[in-house]
Amino acid sequence: MDPRKLNIVRFVSVDAMMKLVLQLGVEQVLADLAARIEADFRRWERFDKTPRVASHSAEGVIELMPTSDGGQYAFKYVNGHPRNTRDGRQTVTAFGVLADVETGYPLLLTEMTILTALRTAATSAVAARHLAPPGARTMALIGNGAQSEFQALAFKALLGVDRLRLHDIDPQASRRCARNLARYGFEIEICGSTEAAVLGAEIITTVTADKANATILTDNMVGAGVHINAVGGDCPGKTELHADILHRADIFVEYPPQTRIEGEIQQLAPDHPVKELWQVIAGQAEGRRDARQITLFDSVGFAIEDFSALCWLADEVGRTNLFAELDLLADPDDPRDLFGMLLRAEAA
Ligand code: NAD
Repeated sequence: MDPRKLNIVRFVSVDAMMKLVLQLGVEQVLADLAARIEADFRRWERFDKTPRVASHSAEGVIELMPTSDGGQYAFKYVNGHPRNTRDGRQTVTAFGVLADVETGYPLLLTEMTILTALRTAATSAVAARHLAPPGARTMALIGNGAQSEFQALAFKALLGVDRLRLHDIDPQASRRCARNLARYGFEIEICGSTEAAVLGAEIITTVTADKANATILTDNMVGAGVHINAVGGDCPGKTELHADILHRADIFVEYPPQTRIEGEIQQLAPDHPVKELWQVIAGQAEGRRDARQITLFDSVGFAIEDFSALCWLADEVGRTNLFAELDLLADPDDPRDLFGMLLRAEAA
């Protein structure tokens, strides 16, 4: 039954999300999300767009990410706290809501920590499909935390990347990542430094967490023809690449007004030329031009990706019993008798 007709809000817990993803298969989910994101990026102009609303503190950031296509409205609450892992907490956690624009009623409330890792990886792979050198099979993966396996699997599912060169300042993180990916058919090498990890890699993914202007990649590490998927720099004062790389690369972004604040390009002049990923997907801008070009996807994560993921989830979960029904919306018999409903509850 359509939840719209029942004034019911479906709730997808972490447990339910895990069951759904495992039932469908992680690589299939990544491919499905990538297809949704591409389709929504093709109709980019239909969406409300705004840079996300960020509340910064010394340790991290809490952000709200809204958008709408006129039919449905979505927002995500997400944090970024790199030091959280020291106390056994995630760097990034999230939840989100999908709502019906016509009535304003929410339809779905869901965990989005796992969904964010999936949609971020799917978006990275979508970008790489347009920007990475054709036939690329080897990826350096710098930063082997919560997002890392999802990134690896998205590049495998969408591009056929099957050789990984892992590096993390914490060798245990690389070992865990290699162990978790053991059954997915990758050839994996754990490397002692970023310099070693990028050797021979056609794609470099940086997905580290540090609330600092870090220099994960220096200019000398980036050879001609490489595609860089820079995921970890996503907040003012939190970047991963040396600025010299940015001057050599063709830069592709999600939504420029947000990426200029949060992405690697915060290091550049505000009018430094960048291309928008949606235009490349829609055939309105050129992606990779030649074999020597350095391409950079300056990923920060944009609300439309979450919208795509929430719509995918609403459809998929609707075919299962992997949701609870939440008593979230007051529903008096007479819509204007909200107080009467309270009195009747007292009498009962
Ligand atoms: P995490 O804390 O689980 O993992 C980060 C890893 O980076 C850790 O293992 C840490 O040891 C490693 N690291 C830190 N500094 C390093 C360095 N100098 N060299 C090598 N490794 C280093 O975090 P996560 O959830 O995997 O997130 C990673 C980053 O991705 C965060 O910065 C997060 O904000 C960002 N992120 C971006 C998006 C997006 O859409 N662009 C989405 C989700 C997360």
